[in-house]
Amino acid sequence: MTENVALSRYTTLGTGGPARWFAEPASVEELVERLAWAAGEGLPVAVVGLGSNLLVADEGFPGLALKLGGELAKAEAVDGRLVAGGGAPLAVCLHRARAAELGGIEFVCAIPGTVGGAVWMNAGAYGGDIAGVLERALVADARGARWLTPEELGLRYRSSGLRHGQVVAQADLRLEPRPVADIKATVAEMQARRKEAQPTNKRTFGSVFKNPEHELTAGRMLEACSLRGYRIGGAQISPKHANFIENAGGATSADAVALIVEARRRAREQFGVQLQPEVQLLGAIEIPALDPS
Ligand SMILES: Cc1cc2nc3c(=O)[nH]c(=O)nc-3n(C[C@H](O)[C@H](O)[C@H](O)COP(=O)(O)OP(=O)(O)OC[C@H]3O[C@@H](n4cnc5c(N)ncnc54)[C@H](O)[C@@H]3O)c2cc1C
Repeated sequence: MTENVALSRYTTLGTGGPARWFAEPASVEELVERLAWAAGEGLPVAVVGLGSNLLVADEGFPGLALKLGGELAKAEAVDGRLVAGGGAPLAVCLHRARAAELGGIEFVCAIPGTVGGAVWMNAGAYGGDIAGVLERALVADARGARWLTPEELGLRYRSSGLRHGQVVAQADLRLEPRPVADIKATVAEMQARRKEAQPTNKRTFGSVFKNPEHELTAGRMLEACSLRGYRIGGAQISPKHANFIENAGGATSADAVALIVEARRRAREQFGVQLQPEVQLLGAIEIPALDPS
């Protein structure tokens, strides 16, 4: 276990302060041991996946941050399913499935996270999501680990019923036989669509807001609020897609939060809609409630 580790190194936006404690468990046993230690110390716990939907407070996280490694970051195709550690990058999962001529998870090519982060978020793209392919997940807490079904995980649109202190140690995903050429063609088509519509070569944390129940997506709504390219400090709303915040150089998490607050205010004023953040907040970050008027 290490003290005061900068979490900015572990987030795709590249902002955020240190974790008070940091550990990289390599097995389920080690993971449960760390969780039990934190519970004994009365410390909050959070997992950092690839930090691709994470905004960490500039003051840091006053608890134990976990990064899953070793066995917990491996993936392999076994008997028609993908057996993956919670820390396995989705890109590795896709690669392993393709090598075994198994498809069904091509949509993850658009999602730069880990399996555990994808379960926590019920990540999805292009009509597919984790809920549609997940058979079961091994979830660890301070008392041990047990298998949960998708229903028990409470998967909904970009969220699950999991709470900090519950860690996805492994997930089994359903795959189906598919020729490699078909998998490659689907992935190429999805990646081309992604490149066309979103900033793919900038430091961002993916979608800032969930899409509201409205004829406009969050991105279209914020574009209509003239927010494309709007900048506060080192953070700016992407000129390419208004539901993305980019680190335009020297951004802090406070800059990103200020943009989130301004975007919510304008969407409320112009469309009467309260946008809900999709990005996950870690540490002392508060998005103030909009006033009721
Ligand atoms: C360019 C870009 C494009 C994106 N496109 C999409 C998209 O199309 N669709 C989509 O759904 N998302 C998208 N995202 C967002 C992001 O990639 C997903 O939400 C992803 O699932 C997050 O995974 P992560 O491992 O990076 O999690 P992190 O960002 O590190 O963490 C997210 C949350 O999950 C928790 N968590 C992480 N690992 C675990 C674990 N093992 N057990 C329990 N909790 C855990 C964290 O504590 C945190 O609360 C995009 C992001 C970027 C930067």
